[in-house]
Amino acid sequence: MFDKIVIANRGEIALRILRACRELGVKTVAVHSTVDRDLKHVRLADESVCIGPPQPALSYLNIPAVISAAEVTDAVAIHPGYGFLSENADFAERVEQSGFVFIGPKSETIRLMGDKVSAITAMKAAGIPCVPGSGKSLSDEMTDNIRLAREIGYPIIIKAAGGGGGRGMRVVHAEAALKNAIQVTKSEALAAFQNDSVYMEKFLEHPRHIEFQILADNHGNCVHLGERDCSMQRRHQKVIEESPAPGLDQRTRERLGQRCVEACLAIGYRGAGTFEFLYENGEFYFIEMNTRVQVEHPVTEMVTGIDIVKEQLLIAFGEKLSIKQDDVIMRGHAVECRVNAEDPKTFRPSPGKVRTFHVPGGPGVRIDSHLYDGYVVPPYYDSLVAKLITHAPDRTTALARMSHALTEMVVEGIETNISLHRELVHDAAFMAGGTDIHYLERRLALEA
Ligand code: ADP
Repeated sequence: MFDKIVIANRGEIALRILRACRELGVKTVAVHSTVDRDLKHVRLADESVCIGPPQPALSYLNIPAVISAAEVTDAVAIHPGYGFLSENADFAERVEQSGFVFIGPKSETIRLMGDKVSAITAMKAAGIPCVPGSGKSLSDEMTDNIRLAREIGYPIIIKAAGGGGGRGMRVVHAEAALKNAIQVTKSEALAAFQNDSVYMEKFLEHPRHIEFQILADNHGNCVHLGERDCSMQRRHQKVIEESPAPGLDQRTRERLGQRCVEACLAIGYRGAGTFEFLYENGEFYFIEMNTRVQVEHPVTEMVTGIDIVKEQLLIAFGEKLSIKQDDVIMRGHAVECRVNAEDPKTFRPSPGKVRTFHVPGGPGVRIDSHLYDGYVVPPYYDSLVAKLITHAPDRTTALARMSHALTEMVVEGIETNISLHRELVHDAAFMAGGTDIHYLERRLALEA
């Protein structure tokens, strides 16, 4: 196994990677910004290197700083986590050019999948069903765009090819608004993603978000670990995730999972990855692929018993997958609530000092969090502070365990969305299973 790796991330995922390293006997280097010296994983890591000031652009996104940290500590590989540099193909390329192993797919694959238009083209060619859409980047020629939108049928959605994190999307309900929507999305995309390419898709009105987890090695082996339902969203951002997706039958799971595996083999995929689909009226439509570990990976780990982060490390080291498709058995049901440092009503971020952090426990309860009493949540980064995961033989029990765990969990000193989660796990429609991606926003609008 690797002797030592750099964890190029922060917060709960950096701690998660550190834990996987410990189990595999890999030494760790934590790289951190000046405000992150007291992060839990920085204290637990074998070594740490400060790579810059709080602003992400100057630290966690600073490619030369991250690579030099690997150089000065004699690390051999870099794990990017999620967010930050994890889907930056230039970073992956420079890591490899500098003689380190990038724990993730090849840079060409990240590039191909990082542009949603080229990803859709590649996936269509590999037999993956996609959302009806332009299939190409939109030109400035409005007659062409008007014709495309009429063919697809309103409402449509304009999406940035380089978009991510739920940003760079605009729904258009009628032709009169099309030109402006394209222009605004283009300029926003240029500012946010340095890429003004946008494309058009049919806007699905009642879909669920269902995604498939895959693992592929360097030796032509690939398996899928079933699916997650991440339909509980606010502003295109996931709030609750679960596995398996309520009501999805084994035949459909196997059929689509197998297609994802074939698509991975077709593009020479390596590492952990996720195929995201919208699911409406019994049909799946591919929207994008994430070429990294995802926030919601624990629900899959709980039902399959497979440690996805350890697998990432083993694959990057060049090991053959030890799991065959028949070994992947989904047992029971797992649910994850994302606990954010934010006001539960206004959703405004709530950084500050955590006075008390009391974690829940009991059978089937897992918590992935970097919080501790006295820790100060800085204002510069994502507001995710904890992931609460419960697992049980069936969905009803997993939700009951979640409800109780949310009651036991105490975070004082900062605001969190725990109270919102407490309500959501008792929501009748959610409890019945199968609510669509717009459900939470509809519910919040009713309350407002
Ligand atoms: P990002 O990379 O920003 O996460 P995605 O393409 O994965 O963007 O889309 C994020 C979310 O936006 C989806 O889970 C869904 O809620 C919504 N969305 C994206 N495309 C469509 C579509 N064609 N119709 C309806 N909703 C969509």
